[in-house]
Amino acid sequence: MAGLRLMAVHAHPDDESSKGSATMARYATEGVRVLVETCTGGERGDILNPAMDRPDVVADLPGVRVREMARAADILGVDHHWLGYVDSGLPEGDPKPPLPEGCFALADDDEVTGALVARIREFRPHVLITYDENGGYPHPDHLKVHSASMAAYEAAADPERYPEAGPAWAVAKVYYTHGFLRRRMEVLDEELFARDGVRHFEEFLSRFRGRPDIMERVTTRVECAAHFEQRNLALLAHATQIDPNGWFFAAPVEMQQRLWPTEEFELAASRIPVPARAEGEYEADLFEGVDPYVDLPVGPEARTIAGTWFDATNSDATPSEDPR
Ligand SMILES: [Zn+2]
Repeated sequence: MAGLRLMAVHAHPDDESSKGSATMARYATEGVRVLVETCTGGERGDILNPAMDRPDVVADLPGVRVREMARAADILGVDHHWLGYVDSGLPEGDPKPPLPEGCFALADDDEVTGALVARIREFRPHVLITYDENGGYPHPDHLKVHSASMAAYEAAADPERYPEAGPAWAVAKVYYTHGFLRRRMEVLDEELFARDGVRHFEEFLSRFRGRPDIMERVTTRVECAAHFEQRNLALLAHATQIDPNGWFFAAPVEMQQRLWPTEEFELAASRIPVPARAEGEYEADLFEGVDPYVDLPVGPEARTIAGTWFDATNSDATPSEDPR
């Protein structure tokens, strides 16, 4: 798969390890160049691991998160770059407090799009991964990642927009990553219950009751079971953000490999033809139909020719919920 490039845009350090990370690790192993672009430094993340809630860690959280991110990228075998914005934090309370001044969610949309356009034009990815219109999780930074990524997908291919950001580049396909599928959690929950009589994912699953599963929007399932151990290790590298004894790690790697060996994505937009599929049939490769030796035309010819992206607002599927 030499010559292929994959770019994933994420909001915070650790998002890359919980959403599509085994897929990235697999492609990296196969010779695809993989770049994670993290928009913020995660400065406002809560310390979710009691063992890391120490004064020295709290005093240098931004520095700690930089080192955690470097380790995670290393484990996954991907390149990493910081877009340089500041975490907006998750506003909580009723009414919600205003967003902090200077944060990513309040940054000028044109400016953020321009910053991503520059990154796309430099790295020239064939495939771009981002979040769906619900952010995968209702965090203001995740919503901003979605809107800015989709705007940058369009603008990067137009030489008249952001001319200072480098020569135009047409990304072939954009995918949404769907990491937290109800069906997957139910399958693992059943198996764990049969094993030790405890409903490990009860709290998580209770949020989904009576709502449609995001699985209905999945177009693509990438087999990546051989990289689940890396996925766990990359997540654990974000030591301040994840409790190694938490429910997240309740299902052993072997069980996940046996029961759910894939990661799921939704084709959001494409500039190359996408074959029609029968219901229940999935694409197995994010690069299907991509020729690394043929650059797509830019300018007015860089047309999006297929995509569920345009129907997304009509979908009644509930957003998947990222617990963190
Ligand atoms: Zn996040």
